[in-house]
Amino acid sequence: MTEEPHPTDDAAPLAAVVARERAETAADALREEGVYDEDRGVRPFGDDAVALPVIEPPTETSIREVVRQEPRPRLRTLDDHLRERGWTEAERERAPSSWAVVGTVVLVDVGDSPRPDEVGEALLALHANADTVLARHGIDGERREPDAEVIAGAGDTETIHTEHGTRYALDLAEVMFSPGNKAERARMGEEVSEDERVFDMFAGVGYFTLPMARAGARVTAAEINPASFRYLLENAKLNEVHDRVDLYRADCRDVADGVDADRVVMGYYEAWEYLDSALDALVPGGIVHMHEATPNALVFDRPIDRLRDAAAERGRAVEILDRRRVKGYSEGVAHVVVDARVA
Ligand code: SAM
Repeated sequence: MTEEPHPTDDAAPLAAVVARERAETAADALREEGVYDEDRGVRPFGDDAVALPVIEPPTETSIREVVRQEPRPRLRTLDDHLRERGWTEAERERAPSSWAVVGTVVLVDVGDSPRPDEVGEALLALHANADTVLARHGIDGERREPDAEVIAGAGDTETIHTEHGTRYALDLAEVMFSPGNKAERARMGEEVSEDERVFDMFAGVGYFTLPMARAGARVTAAEINPASFRYLLENAKLNEVHDRVDLYRADCRDVADGVDADRVVMGYYEAWEYLDSALDALVPGGIVHMHEATPNALVFDRPIDRLRDAAAERGRAVEILDRRRVKGYSEGVAHVVVDARVA
């Protein structure tokens, strides 16, 4: 990839050069430092790096070098890029309106967009720290396997995504990742206390397990999908929490009866079907976080009633501590979570 000329005049804008795989963490650090320039885009730099726009040379963030860049109008939106490619207004209206950058992969639902490959190329131009665009057509079945295809770029769907300091290695063509759960993943790390015992029944690649273990909890995690479990193992080492987690590639119902947990996390849309096992594992006075995909008209009543009924069958009372909408699940259906203390 040819590098752009380096203008010498002092008026030319600055950029901090970092290895491409460090782009997300370095950009976060530059923002922390208050030098990241949100008005300019990230540009490729050589074959393995990117140039992050800065308003002045950083002093704390580790970078390769600071360079000056040719000023150029930023094509700020996907619409700008597609217009530049000659798309008509009617075609541009069918282009995707949202996507997510997960590590070095752009995840997008192309819907009925014309020429998905051109959408992919435009998204790569928008996100220089990405090298692959993966079109996702949905997530299926109990094991939540993505139906996805590469529409642009190198085709490397395995990446490391970093958020709130937690690192998630995963192959986005193999295992699910929900960008919309980001706040909930961070919240789980804030809810736990040092050395409390947690049972994460539907662990995936460690979406909740890792932030909780990094916060000092001792986590027993169950995950039935071999591909997700492989990343769960890898991520425990990657985040240096392997001494605080017990990981089981198993059905959570087969793990539950050996567990005494102060907190049980049920991050699965049909979690209510597993309440027997969850309550088996939860010590009296423990806390459960029960997720559900709930029709808007039934939001919060249905999951709360299900929780209360399952506890009542065991002579246990429920105190609702919190109820949250995590994100939209589908048309008219919300992804919700209910937090409750069970006596
Ligand atoms: N809890 C994570 C979150 O909310 O981001 C992951 C959610 S993902 C939708 C649910 C995970 O549970 C999948 O990785 C799936 O393979 C796993 N799973 C489904 N049924 C299971 C079971 N009976 N025991 C253990 N894991 C299960």
